[in-house]
Amino acid sequence: MSYVQVVNIDKSFQGRQVLKGIELEIKKGEFVTLLGPSGCGKTTLLRIIAGLERGDDGKIIVNGREMIEGQSKKEQNIGMVFQSYALFPNMTAFENIAFGLKIKKVPSQEIRKQVEEVMDILSISGKENNYPHQMSGGQQQRVALARALVVKPDLLLLDEPLSAVDAKVRESARILIRDVQKKMGITTIFVTHDQLEALVMSDRIVVINGGEVMQYGTPEEIYHNPTNKFVAQFIGTYNFVPGGLVGFTDKDAEVCIRPEHILLVSKDQLAQIGETDVIKLQGTLENFYILGNTARAEVVAQGRTIIVDHLNRFEGSRFALKEEVGLVIERKVC
Ligand code: ATP
Repeated sequence: MSYVQVVNIDKSFQGRQVLKGIELEIKKGEFVTLLGPSGCGKTTLLRIIAGLERGDDGKIIVNGREMIEGQSKKEQNIGMVFQSYALFPNMTAFENIAFGLKIKKVPSQEIRKQVEEVMDILSISGKENNYPHQMSGGQQQRVALARALVVKPDLLLLDEPLSAVDAKVRESARILIRDVQKKMGITTIFVTHDQLEALVMSDRIVVINGGEVMQYGTPEEIYHNPTNKFVAQFIGTYNFVPGGLVGFTDKDAEVCIRPEHILLVSKDQLAQIGETDVIKLQGTLENFYILGNTARAEVVAQGRTIIVDHLNRFEGSRFALKEEVGLVIERKVC
């Protein structure tokens, strides 16, 4: 049975529809990411799931009970961390984290034990007496997360909680959140517009555009089998090449080819490769740049620019700009 059910949610602001017939099912313990461009409706959907906002139509069911605006968040034991993590500035890290337990009137011995435990999991032990302004952005973010986790929520809602930290901390924070979430088995809904973040962290990803679900699937499915052009373009990079469907008359189509599925070779190498199972193209190398562990080449062939990625194992390009090069595409990836 699904732990969270989003049933046909519509929402408009000032006559403009921002969510259209959203349907989702989330299993207990799952980590699901709402992914889409800025303004597509992710935060609005999360707020409706949290019961902070009401849909114009449809309903949200959490653990078999319908969410009613304004009252169910506490009853349902939902934890939330927002983009601006809003710690209490006049409280220490310990006091910030202990806040929810104090409200619940948990005995102070027990509070100390639970706060220490969650600080240990999040590697912020030793910061107990620091005020927010005495901690880095990343540490503050962890305190905010600890504050949400310490009450052991049944459902954790995270709205771009890593937006304030630098790229390096962000990388380790992703893994940390995922580890903690798995360890504690908390059903989590995470909002981001960062496709890499979604691919790294999620059990399943909901790709949203213009208030509609474009695809709902595992990172593997979303990356390797996008069901429409929006998803293909939004996740990773694709080359779109006009073509036709063999066996269908007058049926134009576009072929999508990932840059990592194309091999860049010299003109001489191209001549030595047979035609079986591959498509061969010749073109001019117009651009070459390093992305990190991969390097990207832009080759103009038959009047269009084709993007090719390959492992960046060698210093410098084996090819010179403006050089004639070959491209090899396996037929089975087309
Ligand atoms: P971002 O990644 O930029 O945070 P998002 O995908 O989370 O974007 P939402 O914040 O859900 O998008 O906003 C969806 C649309 O609804 C936007 O066009 C936004 O301007 C509009 N919107 C959101 N909240 C309100 C509101 N309270 N009143 C009017 N319009 C709103």
